[in-house]
Amino acid sequence: MAERTTPGFLVEVDEATLKRERAKARELRASPWWKRKRAAGVCHWCGREVGAAALTMDHVVPLVRGGRSTKGNVVPACKPCNDEKKYSLPTEWTPPGR
Ligand SMILES: [Zn+2]
Repeated sequence: MAERTTPGFLVEVDEATLKRERAKARELRASPWWKRKRAAGVCHWCGREVGAAALTMDHVVPLVRGGRSTKGNVVPACKPCNDEKKYSLPTEWTPPGR
């Protein structure tokens, strides 16, 4: 098993990159691709059907961990999952009920 990272795990991501990636996320959110994905109404993490309106865009690899706003790195997540996961990588966090 690889060594676990401890607090202080945030990689250095400069403000300009974060700004750019957040802007890209906004664009993605407005895209037909995202609307189709969200329309299913199912949370990627816990698998619950919460309805499209309750789904938020979650970065699988958070921006502050070096993730990017690309189609391969964003998933629809319910608010509790998004709040709980925060800056965790998928390997560091187990969705509720999984
Ligand atoms: Zn969920």
